[in-house]
Amino acid sequence: MNGRDAIPPGATLGVLGSGQLGRMFAIAARRLGYRVHVLSPEYDTPTGQVADLEISADYQDLDAIARFAQGVAAITFEFENVPAITAETAARHAPVRPAGRVLHIAQNRAREKGWLRDNAMPVTPFRNVGTQEELLAAVVELGTPAVLKTAAFGYDGKGQVTIRKAAEAEAAWQTLMRQECILEAFVEFEKEISVVTARGLDGNLVCYGPMVNTHVNHILDTSVTSCDLPARAVKDSLDIACSVMEGLDVTGVLCVEFFMESDGRVMVNELAPRPHNSGHLTIDGHVTCQFEQQVRAVCGLPLGSPAMVRPAAAMANLLGDLWEGGEPQWHRALAIPEVKLHLYGKVESRAGRKMGHINAAADTPEEALRLVTAARAALTRR
Ligand code: AMP
Repeated sequence: MNGRDAIPPGATLGVLGSGQLGRMFAIAARRLGYRVHVLSPEYDTPTGQVADLEISADYQDLDAIARFAQGVAAITFEFENVPAITAETAARHAPVRPAGRVLHIAQNRAREKGWLRDNAMPVTPFRNVGTQEELLAAVVELGTPAVLKTAAFGYDGKGQVTIRKAAEAEAAWQTLMRQECILEAFVEFEKEISVVTARGLDGNLVCYGPMVNTHVNHILDTSVTSCDLPARAVKDSLDIACSVMEGLDVTGVLCVEFFMESDGRVMVNELAPRPHNSGHLTIDGHVTCQFEQQVRAVCGLPLGSPAMVRPAAAMANLLGDLWEGGEPQWHRALAIPEVKLHLYGKVESRAGRKMGHINAAADTPEEALRLVTAARAALTRR
């Protein structure tokens, strides 16, 4: 790669999808001097609020997609459920990074898990399920408990049902509306960890993590990095994340989520071909954050240093539930000077909706986690 292949600052970048991930991408892009156009079906969105141009159009409106792509130097996306035809249409007019084929694999659990298995990566034991008979056979093969997940459009535990005993299989199949699914063996993991990786147009790779993640109601609650994990878990998760980037030939940012067992063995739970919630701590914890890496990768620029600014960093999510008793007491969280507050500009707060997050860097992971959770608790103290 040389400078001639790069898209220089001053150019316009396009982002498909308009949530908080697009917003933080746009902020990083604008800091580097780019202009940002965003397209999604919504209006007055977290990304649109900070973009130069917000276009409201359906992802299936291929004329709008073509016009959008003609107006930008490169396109990325912030959520993986953009239809394949949309990515293909856009790619006729501007480079789409990561490429549509990466999206195609990552947006369907059956394709994703199949690709991982075929490429010798450790994954949760699973079976593809297209009919009730196949489900019953898969329950016998994998045993119970097991988790039935829709192959498409699943995130934050949506489209999932746990089958505790074989007799529950039929009801689970009805609950998920008899769609294409996968059945996964239930993993008695010790921890959930993730690695965020960025890969440039020249193939250079940088990694963040592994982050240790906790979930509440299937939604990410906290992430913390620099934890004392078994050496095997650290090495294997980083190696696997790099192999995924190379195997899929990703230009951009991708997160691999893992289940870690007590002996340090890891298996992939899922891939997200974009910046990830567990990587939000990189904004204040690392020299270059995941969103700036996405900008650099998409533009064919060299990647920045992923080094940490302090020995540890943590993040706590702010969900809409925090608004139940009225507006959170922002001044109380900000009274902790190490704390960095990030809000996504969402007007309507709903239970479970990601409204923002709090980051802190510190000398130890325990201290970083203590700071972000104390700041979050202070928000609702009356
Ligand atoms: P997912 O949408 O697949 O990331 O699942 C959301 C959360 O559900 C995960 O972060 C886990 O906490 C839990 N989960 C999903 N699949 C399994 C499994 N096979 N075994 C145990 N827990 C699971």
